[in-house]
This record gives sequence, C-alpha cells and structure tokens, in this order.
Amino acid sequence: MYRHFKISVYCTVHDLLNITDFDSFRETFSQLTKHVHVDHVYLETYRSRVRIEEEQMKRVISFFESIGIRVSGGITPTRDERLNRFGFSSLCYSDPDDLALLEEVCAMTARLFDDFILDDFFFDNCRCERCIEQKGEMSWSDFRCARMKKVSEACVITSARRANPKVKVTIKYPNWYASYHRTGYCPEAQKDIFDAIYTGTETRDSRMTQQNLPKYLSYFLMRYMENVKPTLNLGGWFDLFECSGNPLDYTRQILLTAWSRPKSMTFFCLGMLLAPEYRSFIPMAGDALAMADQILEYSGSPIGVPAYVPYASEGENYIHNFLGMRGFSFEPTPSYPTDAKCVFLSECAAKDDSIVERIRKSLAEGADVVCTSGLVARIQDKGWESIASMTISNRHISTNIFAAAENALAYGPRAIARATVQLPVIEYATNDAWVLSAGIGEETSVPLVIGVNYGRGRLFVFNIPEDFGQIYALPENAIKPLREALAVNGVAMACEGRFSVFAYDTDIMLLQSFSENYETLYPTMVEPGVRIIEVNPLFEQRDKSERNAIFPMVIAPGSTHMFRLIHEKGVD
Ligand SMILES: [Zn+2]
Repeated sequence: MYRHFKISVYCTVHDLLNITDFDSFRETFSQLTKHVHVDHVYLETYRSRVRIEEEQMKRVISFFESIGIRVSGGITPTRDERLNRFGFSSLCYSDPDDLALLEEVCAMTARLFDDFILDDFFFDNCRCERCIEQKGEMSWSDFRCARMKKVSEACVITSARRANPKVKVTIKYPNWYASYHRTGYCPEAQKDIFDAIYTGTETRDSRMTQQNLPKYLSYFLMRYMENVKPTLNLGGWFDLFECSGNPLDYTRQILLTAWSRPKSMTFFCLGMLLAPEYRSFIPMAGDALAMADQILEYSGSPIGVPAYVPYASEGENYIHNFLGMRGFSFEPTPSYPTDAKCVFLSECAAKDDSIVERIRKSLAEGADVVCTSGLVARIQDKGWESIASMTISNRHISTNIFAAAENALAYGPRAIARATVQLPVIEYATNDAWVLSAGIGEETSVPLVIGVNYGRGRLFVFNIPEDFGQIYALPENAIKPLREALAVNGVAMACEGRFSVFAYDTDIMLLQSFSENYETLYPTMVEPGVRIIEVNPLFEQRDKSERNAIFPMVIAPGSTHMFRLIHEKGVD
C-alpha cells in the first residue's frame, strides 16, 4: 500500500470479456500486483457497441472483491468505428437510439455499482446531417456544450439515479483541455452536475503525436482540475499509448501526476499492461510509484505562479506546458487570481471580456503581471493601449543571438541560443517601455522580454517564439528577467534546456530534468536569507540525507532532485 495515493486500474469491457478462467486470470493479474499495489479497479460495462452481460460482470466483481480490491463501474460512450470516417467517433446525440443506449448502459452500470466513471469519450464530435440541422445557426461549441450539459443531466445522471439512488458518477476529462468546449465538454457546468471529476494526464512525444502535449501537462492539468472542483478531482489517469519508443515517456506521466499530489492514479488499461509487448513497463511503473511515494513524504501542497485559464478558452494552446518544461512553476486556475502578487496571462485569457480591466487593477495594486505576446495580439485593439504603448506586428525576426539589457540603453554580452528562434516583432515606444532582453537581428533587434511601469506594479510582456519548442532553446540570460518575476518561494532556478520545477508550501522544491544531456543547474535568484539544502529522499537515514547544495550543480539526463529551502531567521 502506498502512503500518499491509491492506485486504480481501468479494465475495458474487452479485458473483462477475455477472462474465461478466473484461476488462470488470478495468475496473470499477479504479474501486475507483484510490482504495483492495486487498491481499486474500474470495470467497464460498455465500449463501442460491445457490452458485458450482468451475470458475467457479477462474477468479475466477486473475483476482485475476493482479493480485497474495491470495484467501480466504467463506461466509454463511443460508437463502433464507422467506415469512411476520420478518427474516433462519439455517440450521436441527435440519434434517439444512441440516447436510449446511453441511458440503458448508465442504468445497468448503476445497478451493478455504487459509483462509476465515464471514460474521456463523453464528448460530441458528430457532424452527421441530423446534427448539422439541429445545430442551426449556433456555433458548434455553443451547440455541443449546451447539448452535453443536457445529456449529462437528463440521460446520464437521471437514468443512473433511477436505477440506484445512491450512485455517484465521475466524469473523466481528456488531456486535450484546449479543445474541451469545441467537443461539448463544459467543466464549468458539469462540475456541479457530476459528483466528482477525474483528470487525463496522458502525455507522449509532443512532436510526433497530433495532440502536441508537453509532459508538464501531466502536472499542470491536474492542478487546473483541482482548482475546478476542489477536493473532488479524484485523480490522474495515464496510459501506455505511444510510449514504446521511449519508456521514459511512461514513467514521467506517472511521476508528474504524482507531483501534483493526486488522491489516486489510474492505469489505463489492464489488457494493455498485461500484453506481452508492454509487460516490461510494469516493474518500471512499480519503481516509479515507490519512489514517488517516498518523495511525497516531504512535500506539502503544490504552489506556483497563478496562471489564469478561463473556461472554454483557447489560444497559444498548451503554452504553459512548454514554459513548465523550461523551469517555470504554475498554479492554473479557471478564475482570475485577483489578490495574487504575480499573475501569468497567455492568449487564452482574452476569452475574459474584462481582462484589460483586471490587468489594470492588478498592476495598480502592485502586482507583477506577465502577459504573453499572443495575449497582447488578441487584445491590442480592445483597450490594451490604456495599459502599454506596444503592439505585436505581422513581421518576424529569426535569430540565435540574444542579450539582456545592461542598462536603460544598451544590451550586455551576447548569448547563443541552442536553435534559431523565430519571434514576432513587437513595436514599442522607447522610454515608455523598457526592453529587458532581446533577440539580435541584422542591424536591429526584437524584444524577448519587455517591461512597463504601471501604478505600483510591473507589467512584463514575454514574446513567445513562433514554434513553442524554441522556448527550450532560449539562453538563460535572455529569460532571466522572467525568472525573477515568476520566482516561487523566493528562489528561481536556471538551467539550459528542458527541466521542470515543482514547488510546495513546505519549502520543498522538486526538480525534474527532461534533457538528454548533462546540464548545469543554478539558482538565478535567491531572496536574502534563503539557504538551499539538497535532500536525498531515497537515502534510508533521513537525518543524514540532507546537505548544503553546491551550485552550479551538474545534473544527469532525466534525473530528479529535491531541495529544501531554509529561511534564516532575522534576515529580511
Ligand atoms: Zn449526429
């Protein structure tokens, strides 16, 4: 048993139909439980027109209960794969037969279980003739969100409660959060319709998969959903898809989900884990969980720079996760963090019609506000000029040379980026806005970070490279002004390449390298009176596991490090 989280395994209806002999299944299942302590299983009743008989399910339930494992139901509301159609198919919510099927499956599942989860295919991507006609003049987003809200209430919850008045229903959200509203997911309403939520933390190769999700998302989305439905985000869910090329992609999903402090973590899915080509992932997962449990012994609640991600918003999609793999620590929230001393805003914040007013207020009250160039581009004709004299042009500069401001006029020593970076050109009024670091072009330059004084606060604009992956290539001296502004717990860490910092309210700081090379790590900003201790949480004798950290520190590819911050008394 783990001290800091529970482990669930999702079993698809196909996995369950494959169990014909429980004695031999007991043997097979032990290949998983030898390495991973399993507390709970989700047992699926329906997926893509395939169902399990109630009697067979009762036998499966008895088996798991007999070996001390708690059971819940699961439903994946998909159609069978249709010919001549692209990609995954949701149910058609204009089709009375599909609606009746969903109600029937929910009722049957509620008869068998006191709680069940909807796998993350509870979306609406049908564009059949009937759906096109029903949509009428509405946008697809508005149409689908309104309809799925109704389906959630009228089909799922109503039919489930009729069958079992005490049943609790959990909705699992997919990892691709920027597209939720486009496919009818509306957590703003659904969080109150469902008893609980669950979070997809599946990340893979962000280049070679269509979803383009950087690994930091396994942490970031968990924290966002934690703030969507506090205390009732039941956990994070990862899978093995597209991890064969680099097994570290798998263990990192597990570790980053763990760093978000989940109540539970779910493995998808039983059949895949036990398949011969994936079985070797099981001991790796077991090691990752054991390590995570030991490290979480030290950490408290996660903290980070408040990042405002309004419901149903999009723009600069997944940018926080690229920045999160360049060492910035975020705590995302669906509501504007009015009282925060520092606020991070990307293009998605433009969804909020009051965003300019909110920025002005935060700045006037003395906060640091960091805006991305994508946000500025979206609001530069919507009141932005009342805050700053700067606009994003349509021109671009490509460069691999960067420099930070040496004084109010000149740039200091040049630093070479690890790749050529393409930046939009920001037009700004000199002596009103101050370039803090810049990309150096041919006889000109373009701001990378630019600052404006406003009220008692400071506005920073971060010029985001056209290819978000180029963020990993930026030299540290060019992003130093942001390191200081976005520091958490009084410390900002610097390291070339890809790395994440996870901060906790217990003054613990976890650092995860994603680099393929040895890199140099050092604090680029430390508040006076803060001392940094290196902790080896896996060292058996706890009192001997800590020592003063010595920087710069060379860190190994893919390594995990823990630091404790000591705030010396009597020092301001
Ligand atoms: Zn349809």
